[in-house]
Amino acid sequence: MKKHIVVIAGDGIGQEVTAVGKQVLDAIATKYNHEFTYDTALIGHAAIEETGNPLPEETITKSKASDAILFGAVGHPKYDNDPSAKVRPEQGLLGIRKALGLYANLRPIKLFDELLSASSIKPEILRGADILFFRELTGDVYFGERGRTDDNNTAYDTMIYSRYEVERITVKAFEAAMTRRKKLCSVDKANVLESSRLWREVVQEIAPRYPEVTVEHQFVDAAAMLLIKDPCRFDVVVTGNLFGDILTDEASQIAGSMGMLASASVGDTTGLYEPIHGSAHDITGKGVANPLASVLSVALMLDISFGMKEEAEAVVQAVDAVLKAGFRTGDIAELSTPRDMILGTQAMGEQVLKALL
Ligand code: NAD
Repeated sequence: MKKHIVVIAGDGIGQEVTAVGKQVLDAIATKYNHEFTYDTALIGHAAIEETGNPLPEETITKSKASDAILFGAVGHPKYDNDPSAKVRPEQGLLGIRKALGLYANLRPIKLFDELLSASSIKPEILRGADILFFRELTGDVYFGERGRTDDNNTAYDTMIYSRYEVERITVKAFEAAMTRRKKLCSVDKANVLESSRLWREVVQEIAPRYPEVTVEHQFVDAAAMLLIKDPCRFDVVVTGNLFGDILTDEASQIAGSMGMLASASVGDTTGLYEPIHGSAHDITGKGVANPLASVLSVALMLDISFGMKEEAEAVVQAVDAVLKAGFRTGDIAELSTPRDMILGTQAMGEQVLKALL
């Protein structure tokens, strides 16, 4: 199969982990006789430095012309400490999601058995946890009207959802639940927020189309508590942009580390695949970032955008084999991990490539 992939590595460790992701794509192409061609594009701080724009038009054009996007991360400490900066790296990511109509962010949270004891949650609570989050990506407080009053003493962000935005992600979540354990949990704050009341109304309207799926509604505060108390109760979770942002970072602890979690942002066109972590400037340039989230993002790309189920499974199995062999990056190492088994980014990537052969 021929596929054209745009690699947008972005900032910080995005550059380091995406390089490994691309090597895995190359290895898959060789092993399974596919032809993957690549292009690169700028985003975030790297794009601001070069063009003054966190999302150059060229990046959008190249992305639209591709079959899939392998994404790294955006962000730079310069902007984190300057909330008033008008041009910001994250505008690049929000912008590309909007430009490509990527309205659903899929985040599978599954713990590799070998990492059971690396999590801060007790193994007996974690064992068997397997959750698929659907976070809405193009609405909510991220895109609603925002501003300050004239005296600069009051600020506001508007949480806004339209019926069609809730409908399309809810349908995707129900479809996914049908292929899994047929349970859907919708998370909102309908006891307080009007946008959440619309969210719940829409989910309830769609539910009768999927009579085999058991639906529950949870308020976001309760969901945050239940994720840690009893993660195995969840199968598919569908929620809005803000709640999803926070809950999926919390859920990353189920998988042991942010460095293990991949995500897919999909809509009706080109899909974008990225680790859930950010640019991690505290470890940038040290060569210690865990590349496995990027590698697992490649697995999602192969599966969802290219329909290459066997290839995707081979990548996941390779990660599993490397962990079973005892190799760890610093973020998933334990006190008992021998020092020579704690690898840097590139060395971990090489182990994955070896396991793939
Ligand atoms: P972060 O995800 O970059 O890092 C959080 C912590 O996890 C850090 O201690 C980091 O060292 C560690 N970590 C993250 N990924 C790791 C990996 N692969 N291997 C080992 N350790 C890893 O989040 P942050 O520190 O809150 O944000 C840093 C910057 O990233 C900010 O500018 C923020 O805006 C941006 N950000 C971008 C995205 C994105 O591009 N999707 C997501 C979140 C944050």
